[in-house]
Amino acid sequence: MRELVVLGTSSQVPTKTRNHNGYFLRWDDEGFLFDPGDGTQRQMSLAGVSATDITRICVTHFHGDHCLGLPGIVQRISLDNVPRPVTAHFPASGQVFFDRLRHASVFYDAADIRPEPITGGGDIVESPKWRLEARALDHGIDTYGYRLVEADGRRMVPELLRQHGIAGPAVGTLQRDGAVTLDGRTVTVEEVSVPRPGQRFAFVMDTRLCEGVTALADGADLLVIESTYLDVDAGLAAAHGHLTAGQAARVAAECGVRTLVLTHFSQRYDEPERFADEAAKAFDGEVVVAEDLTRVRVPARRP
Ligand SMILES: [Zn+2]
Repeated sequence: MRELVVLGTSSQVPTKTRNHNGYFLRWDDEGFLFDPGDGTQRQMSLAGVSATDITRICVTHFHGDHCLGLPGIVQRISLDNVPRPVTAHFPASGQVFFDRLRHASVFYDAADIRPEPITGGGDIVESPKWRLEARALDHGIDTYGYRLVEADGRRMVPELLRQHGIAGPAVGTLQRDGAVTLDGRTVTVEEVSVPRPGQRFAFVMDTRLCEGVTALADGADLLVIESTYLDVDAGLAAAHGHLTAGQAARVAAECGVRTLVLTHFSQRYDEPERFADEAAKAFDGEVVVAEDLTRVRVPARRP
C-alpha cells in the first residue's frame, strides 16, 4: 500500500476550506508524517490516519504552518501508547523550536520520539529497501526537502521459474543467494527475473527554484511541491522564497515526474482551477491540485 493522504493545503494561515499543511505518506509498513501544521491531529481523524500509523516525522522548516501541529501529534502518540519509536527529522538549526514543541505542555509522556536533526543533507536513512534523502532548499531559513528512493530490484517471472523447474523453497534460495543449483545445474536470478525499477516520492516545500528542488524531483513517481503563487505573482514568489504553479510544473516536466501534486496555496486565490490550468501548460502528466483529505495513490511502477 503506497498512498499520500493530504491533511492540509494552506500556506501561512488556515482558511475556511483549507487546514494548515500536513501530509501522510503510507509506504508499505512505514508511515511518514510531513510538516504537521496546526490542526493536523484532527485532520488525521477525519482522514482515518491513526497515531499508530506514524513511524517517522519529517519537518522541512520551523515556520508555524509546517510545525505547529507537532505538540498535538506527540501527545497523541503518547496517549495512544504507540508501541514503537517514532523518528523525527528536522533542520538541526531549529533544535530549540523542536524541543519546545516536543514538550509544549504538561502530559504523561510515554512517547518514544527519537530526534535525528539534519545538518547539510544527503542520505539521512538507509535501509535495505529504500533510502531517505534530505536536500537544502532556498527559503531564507534552514529548510530541507525530502525524497524517498526505493532500491531497484528484480521481479521473478513465474513462467521462467517454471521453465527452469524452480518451485517451492528453491525460489527462496534463489532470492537470497542470487543463484540455486538443481540437479547439478546452476540457475541465476537474472535468468528467471526482470529488472524492477524502484519507486520515488519527493516532498518539496517552501523554496525558490534551486538545485535542491531539481535534485529531489528527479525521476519522482509522485512529487508533492508547494505552489504558493501563480506565475502572475512570480515577483512575490521570489521575494518571499516560494514557487509558482508554473515553476513547479516546469520542474516536474524537466525532471520526468509522473504525478504532480500542487499544494501550500496562498489565501489570495480562491479558484483552484487556475493552478491546474497553469500547470497543464508546462506539464503533461497527471496534475492534482490538492484539497484537504485528498488521497493520491503512488502511480503503478514504471515498466
Ligand atoms: Zn509554509
